[in-house]
Amino acid sequence: PISVFWFRRDLRLQDNAGLYHALQAGAPVLPVFLFDTDILSRLPSREDPRVSFLHQTVQALRRELEQLGSSLLVLHGTPLDMMRQLAARYPVREVFANHDYEPAARSRDQQVQEFLHGRGIAFHTYKDQVIFEKHEVVKDNGTPYQVFGAYKKKWLQKLNPFYLKPYPTPRYFQHFLPSPPLPVPSLQELGFVPNGIVFPAKGVPTQLIRTYDQTRDLPALAGTTRLGLHLRFGTVSIREVARQAHQLNAVWLSELIWRDFFMMILFHFPHVATRPFHLAYEHVPWQNQQEQFARWCAGTTGYPLVDAGMRELNATGFMHNRVRMVAASFLVKHLLIDYRWGEAYFAEKLLDFDLAANNGNWQWCAGTGCDAAPYFRVFNPAAQAVKFDKQQQYIKRWVPEVGTPAYPAPMVEHAFARDRALQAYKSALAAV
Ligand code: FAD
Repeated sequence: PISVFWFRRDLRLQDNAGLYHALQAGAPVLPVFLFDTDILSRLPSREDPRVSFLHQTVQALRRELEQLGSSLLVLHGTPLDMMRQLAARYPVREVFANHDYEPAARSRDQQVQEFLHGRGIAFHTYKDQVIFEKHEVVKDNGTPYQVFGAYKKKWLQKLNPFYLKPYPTPRYFQHFLPSPPLPVPSLQELGFVPNGIVFPAKGVPTQLIRTYDQTRDLPALAGTTRLGLHLRFGTVSIREVARQAHQLNAVWLSELIWRDFFMMILFHFPHVATRPFHLAYEHVPWQNQQEQFARWCAGTTGYPLVDAGMRELNATGFMHNRVRMVAASFLVKHLLIDYRWGEAYFAEKLLDFDLAANNGNWQWCAGTGCDAAPYFRVFNPAAQAVKFDKQQQYIKRWVPEVGTPAYPAPMVEHAFARDRALQAYKSALAAV
């Protein structure tokens, strides 16, 4: 009999919880990766750079496994088809994987588990993606936190070296199933084409982390780590990253705690994936003007910081966090466009897109989420630009025509938009 390890958003051999348990169990381990058609068919663009990233990463993983005398079985189809094939081709006794907290992934895993059970195959999953998950950091009465400050305090109290320890997978590398090299479908065979976007490096930049608290709010600098993509797909281990954060910079560690927090929120309140955390905000009278939304997407709103951010996003798949906040707030409050429109646009464009973090942050900006900015706090996009990009270095990089007649006038006046937003939110709350 053999075991299967199913790679998902944990694309590394080092310090991988589920892989460690699979290898340690003793039976030869067949590593597999699935290009899941349930997910790929929903992507709006055939040029999606994240699929290229996955494809490159999977090939690198396969090369590493080949050096160990094994290989990576790469399939293309649905999870249940994959399990059917595996059970037909190999004497599989156990399947191992890591937890995924997104609603669609949870229902997928439920189905897979039922299918495998029916065949007498066990399905084991482990925490790997976060430091603390599910019910590990909850209030004394066992209910989930809804306020970040209190959650963070408990998270830090609970942290000890055990939770940051790497899983020593190399100790059991000899347990991979010996195999000749196996083929990987080409990007074209998967229905995608390459995209010129350059992916950020995966190292943890020590010097940058030391000064993170001073540089992180200035979009003109390369002052944040760009690890989002790697944390999203597990090409780096959260334990390794959190160990560095713990040693080097509490402000940076706090960002990683936000990441855990939103995964925890999504797990306990899965309705947030499609609805406001506080349902009262379903009654906000959104204006949802298509043509205004198109100007926001293209970065031609007439507010330079918003436009710079949107153009950075469109060109690189990244936007600086401070600018994400300003651009999101502008869409929701100044244009009164449903935050879900902006959330979906970011989901399509961000290399580091993660449902929990994207949704949590959008709801935070929209004032509809847990522990959100109160709805009556409306960012002034011009003032934000003066505060965080005084010399317009960042703005000029992305909006070179700023200050010339070629640049559009602001599409909505700030004071007017602010009052309109306050009225709209007030009316939503009055309706319940
Ligand atoms: P660093 O600043 O170096 O931080 C390190 C890591 O900490 C990040 O890679 C990320 O994994 C985590 N992190 C940092 N800030 C946050 C945060 N506020 N919430 C959750 N995790 C955080 N982050 C995503 O990972 N995916 C998203 O889809 C996403 N969408 C966002 C949408 C909006 C409207 C806003 C305001 C923020 C969003 N963020 C998202 C949070 C944050 O902007 C990014 O994590 C950060 O800018 C990524 O840059 P970095 O990798 O250089 O992060």
